[in-house]
Parts: sequence; C-alpha cells; structure tokens
Amino acid sequence: MDILEKLSEIVGTEWVSNRPEDLYVYSRDMTENPPSMPDYIVMPETVEEIQQIVKLANEMKIPITAYVAGSNVGGLAIPSEGGIILDLKRMNKVIEINRDDMYIVVEPGFTFGHLRKLLEEELPEFEYSFPFAPPFASVTANAILQGLGNLSYKHGSMSESINGLEVVLPTGEVVRVGSCAISPYWNTRTPLPDLIGLFVGFQGTTGIVTKCGISLWPKPPFQTHCVIFATDPAEIYSSLIFKLCRAQICQEIGGGLLNKEVGQKLLPLDQLEDLIEMMGLKPKYEGLYFVNLCTLWGCSEDALKAKYKYLIKLVNETNTEEDANLILLRPEDYGEMGKQMMVPMNLPIQIPGLLKEGGLTWVGSYVPLSQWLEGCLRGIEIHKNYGRLPGVLHRPMKYGHYGALRFLIPFNKKNKQEIQKVSSLCKELLEMIVDIGGIPYKMPPWAAKILMNHADPNYVQLLRKIKQSLDPNRIFNPGKLGL
Ligand SMILES: Cc1cc2nc3c(=O)[nH]c(=O)nc-3n(C[C@H](O)[C@H](O)[C@H](O)COP(=O)(O)OP(=O)(O)OC[C@H]3O[C@@H](n4cnc5c(N)ncnc54)[C@H](O)[C@@H]3O)c2cc1C
Repeated sequence: MDILEKLSEIVGTEWVSNRPEDLYVYSRDMTENPPSMPDYIVMPETVEEIQQIVKLANEMKIPITAYVAGSNVGGLAIPSEGGIILDLKRMNKVIEINRDDMYIVVEPGFTFGHLRKLLEEELPEFEYSFPFAPPFASVTANAILQGLGNLSYKHGSMSESINGLEVVLPTGEVVRVGSCAISPYWNTRTPLPDLIGLFVGFQGTTGIVTKCGISLWPKPPFQTHCVIFATDPAEIYSSLIFKLCRAQICQEIGGGLLNKEVGQKLLPLDQLEDLIEMMGLKPKYEGLYFVNLCTLWGCSEDALKAKYKYLIKLVNETNTEEDANLILLRPEDYGEMGKQMMVPMNLPIQIPGLLKEGGLTWVGSYVPLSQWLEGCLRGIEIHKNYGRLPGVLHRPMKYGHYGALRFLIPFNKKNKQEIQKVSSLCKELLEMIVDIGGIPYKMPPWAAKILMNHADPNYVQLLRKIKQSLDPNRIFNPGKLGL
C-alpha cells in the first residue's frame, strides 16, 4: 500500500490529496521565503487520527508540518523538506469553558474568528489578547509561536496565556503538560517543571499540539480610547512611554511609526496630516507619523476620568512651552475623524490593501523597551538606504519589561529584484536588532541561522539535544529554527 492509500485509510479519501493544484497553495506564503512543495495534504478530525498519521510518518521518516492558516509571516509552515502537511482546520472545537477559573480549552484549528464569536455570544464578561492577524489564524498557533496581541501591554506575549497543552509526540504518544497533566483543571502551569516550554517557541518542531488551554481575562467595565500623536518617536520614547507603562492606567498601549502605505490601513492619516498642519507641526521624518494608541480602563466612569486626567498630566510634562509636539486626542472629541480613529487594537489589519502587490514580510522582535528608540531610528536609516519608508510597530509588553519592535514590509511578489532587496533589507534589520539586544520572534529559517551564530553554543547544544530526544527521526517541520 502506498502512502496516499495509508493516509486515506486513516482519515478517509476526501481528506487527503497529492494533486499538484492542492499542494501548490501550501508550498508558499506571502513572504520572500522560498517555496517548497509538500507531497501530501491530510486533514485529520481527531487526535487518534493524528496519532496514526504521526506514527506512519515516523516509521517512514517522512517530514510532517502542522498547518492552520499559513499566516505566520515567516515561512514557518512552508514544508522546507517536503512530506506531509497536516492541516488542522477541521479540529476547531471548544473542548471546555471554565468561567470560574477563567480559561477555555480549544483545538488547534480554533481561530481568532471563532474566539471573537465565542466571547461576544457566550462570554461577554471576558476578553483575550487579539493580534492584528487575520480572523482565520489559529489561536493555538499564535500562542505557541509567542505572538502578541492588543492586551500584550498587560499580559506579555500570547504564550504567557497558555496553561496547558496536549501534544502528540513522534511515537504517537499523547502527553499533557501544565496542570492538566495531574489535575482535571487547565488553569495553571505552576508549580510543576514547566514542560510547556518544550513546545512553545519551537515552531512545531517538537510535537503536534492537539489541545490548548488558555487564560481569559476579566473585561473592565469602563474603557476609553485615546491617541497620542508625536512628530518624532523620541518624544514618546525618551520618557513618556516609561511613565505611562508604570502608571498602570492603560489596558492597551501600542501603535507605531506609520508611513501612508501601511498606516492608511489603520488610521485616517490624511485627516491626521491636516490636523497637525493646522497646529503648525511637522513630522521630523518626512512622510512618517508616530501614533500611539492607548485604552484607559476603570471600574467606574469616575475612575476613568481620573485616569484620563493623569494621562493629560503626563503628556503636559513632556510638552514644554517651547516644544509642544505631542497631541493628545480623545476620538470622541473629533467628530467623523475621531470615529475613524477609534481603531480598536483587537481587530485584524485589512489584508487586501496591505497585500496589493502580493508580498508581505516583516522583521518582528522583542527588545528591551529601553532600546526600542535606538532600534526604530536605526531601522529608519536602514530603510532609507533601500529607498523605502518604514512601517514600524511599537507595543510595550508586560508593563514595559520588553517591547515589540516590528518592521512591516509590503513588496511586489512578482519582482525578483525587489524580493532580493527585501531579503537583504530584512537581514540588515535583523543584525541591527541583535546588536541592540533584541530577539526576533517567529524567526524564519534564515533568521534562525544568523541568530544561532550569535547564541551561546551551549544553549544551541541544549536545543539540539531536546530536539534529538523528542524527535530523533527529525520528522517535525525540519529545517526550522536551525533544527
Ligand atoms: C496582516 C497580518 C497581521 C498579523 N498580525 C499579527 C499580530 O499582531 N500579532 C501576532 O502575533 N501575529 C500576527 N500575525 C501572524 C499570524 O497571523 C499569527 O502568528 C497566527 O496566529 C499564526 O496562525 P496560523 O494559523 O496562520 O499558523 P500557521 O502559519 O499555519 O503555523 C505557524 C507555525 O506553527 C506551527 N503549528 C501550527 N499549528 C500547530 C500545532 N497544532 N502544533 C504544532 N505546531 C503547529 C506550524 O507548523 C508553523 O510552524 C499577522 C499576520 C498577518 C498576515
């Protein structure tokens, strides 16, 4: 019996394919990372089916790459060495909702679209941290990839929301890590050795996650959005951001240095431009607008008012009489424009506009917040050398213990020269990020190679030992993370 027949026996013929037209879509993503064709697509529905598929792949030494939406922006779900794509979209159920202990347990194909519906319809008292990612992206993939969302200022990277995982190992064994390893509750990862780490940040190279328990957060009853516009990122990042983070008055903080190509998808930049001109201000870097969105939270209207007053005080401390370059807006004060500015940070970016030339890549990183400004300014200069204006995301994480610095780079996917230029731009940005003490997240294979050269050799050795002991036949997503 050939592999296709064996896979069909496990999941049924309609859920397996080796037709080139089906394989093609899984062979590439929106980035500049090189395409590579898989040999088979299989769409399981149960954990038992995954166990059998993985056992088969392990026996035959066939690579196997987990996949949900392929929207990771790093070539991480491209099957670099061919083999089986394990598309988990059909496994999209909610396994458990626990209101008292504030968590849910979901299957890997459960997406941010599903989660939004669940929260709106059944759990309105809770919230979760939403990325700008498309609604068809997997909540589990995002958490195990250590992504970031609108509540990351408070809760840090999404992996910090994971309380428990169920994972299929290459042998087909199913293992649970976190409190669910011992207790019926999926509510915490302490006080045990934290084995969740064996599957987080590993980009699917150590196991297939089949259930994920994540924390939900209580939704504050009162919230209001504000926008702080700066003519120069230094006005926010020299001191205001640190005071703002430590004041703990915000629910969300984030935004970025926006050029029109990227920024117009987020904010009505034309109108903002008119407003700053009216105020006699000019951006320090032509064509670039630094926008910081923040959401204040409170248990009452009065608490919210007091926090807003405090925010005004912080902004006024930065705005000296000679140098008043920060504009603090409450969208409700600005009519139609204000309404458009109410960009809730928990909504997906509009991809069709962003992907108009077919290509999108980024260099995303977590940096010490103290280094964010230097990284941003050096990134502007690097972009200038390539004749480009950057789009730079900023988000303080976990009250400012670290921060996201992400350069968003749309490009023309049909233009080979542009692809080469974008690759070398990304490499320069990465070297700069490492130089300022930052670490790339969801690192593509090319970035992992560079990073591992900078890492402590014993750390790299330990990573390899872990991979070797969990996946000795190297079947899980080979070629990623340099493993
Ligand atoms: C326009 C845009 C904006 C975005 N904004 C954000 C953002 O603000 N924040 C953010 O964090 N991300 C963002 N993303 C990135 C991305 O959408 C998320 O990381 C997403 O959650 C990945 O989910 P996916 O279903 O696409 O995963 P995939 O790309 O299908 O998989 C990602 C990786 O995880 C592995 N994997 C997937 N499922 C499993 C599993 N069950 N077990 C083991 N390994 C698995 C895959 O093998 C692969 O290595 C954005 C993407 C786009 C296109």
